[in-house]
Amino acid sequence: MEKRFVYADNAATTRVRPEVLAKMLPYFTEHYGNPSSLYSIGRDSAVAIMQARKTVAECLNCDPNEIIFTSGGSESDNMAIFGIARKRGRGHIITSSIEHHAVLHTVQELEKEGFDVTYLDVDSNGIISLEQLENSIREDTILITVMYANNEIGSIQPVKEIGAIARRHKIPFHTDAVQAAGHLKIDVQQENIDMLSLSAHKFGGPKGTGVLYVRRGVNPKNFILGGGQERGKRAGTENIAGIVGTACALSMALENVDIVSERVSAMRDRLIDGILEKIPYTRLNGGREHRLPGNVNISVEYIEGESLILMLDLNGICASSGSACTTGSLDPSHVLLALGLTHEVAHGSLRLTINDETTDEDIDYILQVMPVVVDRLRAMSPVWENRPDNK
Ligand SMILES: *Cc1c(COP(=O)(O)O)cnc(C)c1O
Repeated sequence: MEKRFVYADNAATTRVRPEVLAKMLPYFTEHYGNPSSLYSIGRDSAVAIMQARKTVAECLNCDPNEIIFTSGGSESDNMAIFGIARKRGRGHIITSSIEHHAVLHTVQELEKEGFDVTYLDVDSNGIISLEQLENSIREDTILITVMYANNEIGSIQPVKEIGAIARRHKIPFHTDAVQAAGHLKIDVQQENIDMLSLSAHKFGGPKGTGVLYVRRGVNPKNFILGGGQERGKRAGTENIAGIVGTACALSMALENVDIVSERVSAMRDRLIDGILEKIPYTRLNGGREHRLPGNVNISVEYIEGESLILMLDLNGICASSGSACTTGSLDPSHVLLALGLTHEVAHGSLRLTINDETTDEDIDYILQVMPVVVDRLRAMSPVWENRPDNK
């Protein structure tokens, strides 16, 4: 079988689309003016930012003045959560147990500062309960932050319903939509969202640039102090090329999102079915429904996820054994544990995340390589030999 290069870690980051790069390049060379300057090359930069803001606003169905450009998903999450907490000074925050660390570590920091936090459970499909959410709301609840879609298992939360509950109780609702943006249609009006984080490098844009949408009137406390950029909400000379790239990548990703999503979902399902069928002792993590089009997360029993990743890499396949941030640590993923997996099973988990650049041949190749690699790893493993039903 001929070796190929298959990039199946698009939840970690994506390749910058060539069209996006082309749009960005002039802002490093010709249009390098500072947008705060009054001469014409500065004004060119200011106009580029204004246009990018308008494009992003159209993609999310909000007003351009509700868009703040940031350095990415982590900053946007921090800005939203610290921003509301520090404005209010004290109170109770509701989040889920499967958030990205950009949210989880932020609310944990607030816990140390005296805020109360409720972590909503998820069911075996990785979805929160609206009933538990409603029951968790207190007099002093100041923020609900629940991710749009999970980066490890791809579960998509009932965002619109969460937003409706938040609105009924007059509590601001933030959602980390870093995995959803550019892959699903998002409408902040229809979905009752007050704040939303996204990051360009997860949908064909550059790294180190993202967006926080903040509904007018919500006003999280300013986080980065300095100049008056972003209408005084986020100081620092703008990353113009990054901002232009973010807008271009987002609008391109959404151009044919329905068609792309259908095609990618079909490849995803073929990959899931193929693995479950060809490799014994495997299970899908997360449900079949309400799942991101590109997400496959499988537990392969009786092997270590890390060994599997290394063997796949030798065969040209880039995959992940969970969230990139936890790779290198021995703790199993908090997301998989929240689903009820044992430590052993969580350790043998594999995440393959595909997108519109993935081909049917890539899927065929993964389905050819994986069974061979898993067989080889299991043949070396004493736990495989001693598995309970090995008679
Ligand atoms: C990648 C990711 C982030 C962090 O975004 P950066 O732009 O890398 O800081 C936050 N939340 C989720 C769900 C992510 O997948």
